[in-house]
Amino acid sequence: METLAALCKRRGFIFQSSEIYGGINGFWDYGPLGAELKRNVRGLWWREMTREREDVVGLDATIIMHPSIWKASGHLDTFADPMVDCKSCKSRWRADQIAEEQGKKIEIEITEDGKKHYKMPAGVKCPKCGSANFTEVRPFNLMFATHVGPIESDDNKAYLRPETAQAIFVQFKNVLDTSRQKVPFGICQIGKAFRNEVTPRNYTFRSREFEQMELQFFIRPDEAVELICGHVAQLTPDTDLSEPHADWGWEIWHKYWVEKRLAWYRSIGLPKASLVEYWQAKDELAHYARACVDIQFAFPFGIQELEGIAARSDYDLTQHHIHSGKSQEVFDDELKAAVAKLDDAARTAFADKVAADWQAAGKSPEAAHTFCAKLFDGRYIPHDIEPSAGVDRLVLALLSDAYCEEKIADDKGKEETRVVMRFNPKVAPIKLAIFPLLKNRPELVAKAREIYLSLRSRWNVFYDESGAIGRRYRRQDEIGTPFGVTVDFQTLEDNTVTWRDRDTMKQERVAISELATRLQNAETGKQ
Ligand code: ATP
Repeated sequence: METLAALCKRRGFIFQSSEIYGGINGFWDYGPLGAELKRNVRGLWWREMTREREDVVGLDATIIMHPSIWKASGHLDTFADPMVDCKSCKSRWRADQIAEEQGKKIEIEITEDGKKHYKMPAGVKCPKCGSANFTEVRPFNLMFATHVGPIESDDNKAYLRPETAQAIFVQFKNVLDTSRQKVPFGICQIGKAFRNEVTPRNYTFRSREFEQMELQFFIRPDEAVELICGHVAQLTPDTDLSEPHADWGWEIWHKYWVEKRLAWYRSIGLPKASLVEYWQAKDELAHYARACVDIQFAFPFGIQELEGIAARSDYDLTQHHIHSGKSQEVFDDELKAAVAKLDDAARTAFADKVAADWQAAGKSPEAAHTFCAKLFDGRYIPHDIEPSAGVDRLVLALLSDAYCEEKIADDKGKEETRVVMRFNPKVAPIKLAIFPLLKNRPELVAKAREIYLSLRSRWNVFYDESGAIGRRYRRQDEIGTPFGVTVDFQTLEDNTVTWRDRDTMKQERVAISELATRLQNAETGKQ
C-alpha cells in the first residue's frame, strides 16, 4: 500500500486533502489522473446501470435534505458505530474493529426502543499501548450535522447525507410519475456521501467524504407476482438469469443483481479470482433486510467490501409512507386485471394463505389481511433491491490491482525494474500517448500534434515530446496508458506510426487512419 500511495502522490492520482495545512484525516483529493480515472468509473457504471437499460432511470439529488428523512430512515437513531477510548493513552477506537482484530466479538444488546448497547469482551487490549483499561463502549452517530440558515438552533439542524439511497426513496413518486416507468424498474444515482468515521483508515478505503453509486431497483412484492403469474419462480442453480422474467420474486431479482454486478467488475478489468461473493449470515443482516451479499475485493490490506447488494423489502418506502403521510403505493394495472379474474372464495383463500405465511414468519396476520385488501385493489408498496458501490473503494481496487513491477532488460541489456499500471483500457486515465520521435524536427512535431488534435475530442490522449523515447514510454507505463504511438520519418512518407502496447511492449506499424478504430476496439473489449 505504501508503494502504491507513493506512486499515486508522485504521479497525481491521489493527494491528501489540505496537505499544505497538515492534511485532514479521512479526506482525500484526486489529482489530474485520479480525476480522470474516477470519471471513467462513474461513466462506465452510469452507462451499464441506466443508458443500456430500459428499466432504470437516473437521479441527481441534493446532499442536504429535510432532516425528517433521517428520522424516518432510522439513521438518526441507529446509524452509529461503537466507540471506545483507552483510558491509559487516550487513543480512540472502533470497539468492534479492535475486538475483531484480536479474534473477539463485541456483545450487542438491542433494547425495546431499538437502541444498541455494547460490551467489550474480556481480554481486548489497546492496539497502541496494550492496556485493557477502556471507557464504556458508546454509540457514535456517523452523520455530520450542520445548520440551514443563519440561526444555529435545533430547529434548523440538518445533516450531510450518509448515503445517496434515501434521496432516491423520497423522490420515488416523482420519478414514477414523470418517467413512464412501471414496477419493476430502478432509479440510480452517483453522488457524495459523508460519514464521520471513528477511525478512517486504509488510505481512501474508509474516508469521511466519499462517493457512492447506488441503484434502488423496485419490484413487486412476491404476493403480487403470485396473483399475476399464478406462481413465483424459485431460485435454483439452473435459473436462467440472463433476462428478467415477470414471475421472478425478490430472491431471483437479488441474485440477478449480484451476478450483474460481478460481471461488471470483471468487464472493467478486476480479475475473477480477486472478487469474493460473501453472503451475510442471518445474524449479520439489518433487521429489515432479507438477504445481503457483499462483493469483496482482495485489497493489499485484506479482503474487504467493495459493494453491498441488499434485498431491503418494502422497508424504506414504507417508512417514508408512514413518516411523510404521503402515499408511496403504486397502482399496478396488471395486478388489478389478474385479481378481477378471481372470485371471492379464491381471494379469501389467497388472503388466508398469506396471513398464515406471515404468521409463520413472526408477522401479524391482521397486517397480512390489510395488505391483501390493498393487493386486491391493485395497490402495494414496492420492494427494493439495492446494489450500493463506492467509487473511491473501486478506484482503490483498480489501482491496487493494476500495480505491477517487472524486471526487464534495458537497451544495453542491463536488468531494470519497470513499474506498470495495467489498467484495462476502459478505465485507464489516458488512452493513448503520442510522441514525435524528435522534438527539434518541426515536421515530426506538426504531424504528432495533428494526430493529437484529431483524437482528443473523443478520447483523453496525451502529447509528449520531452526526453528520450524510451523514457517517455516508461512514464506512460507508470500511469497505465495502454498504448503509445511514435511519429518518425517513415510517418511523413506513408502515414503510418509505431504503435506500442504497454503490456507486451511489442511495437508494430499502424496507419494513422486506423488509430481511432483501435482505440474504440480497446474500449469495447474487441481486439
Ligand atoms: P463498511 O462496513 O465497510 O463501513 P458499509 O456496509 O457501512 O461499509 P454501506 O453502507 O453498505 O457500507 O455503503 C455502500 C458502499 O459505500 C460500500 O460498499 C462502500 O463501497 C462505500 N462506503 C461506505 N462507507 C465508506 C467510507 N467510509 N469510505 C469509502 N467508501 C465507503
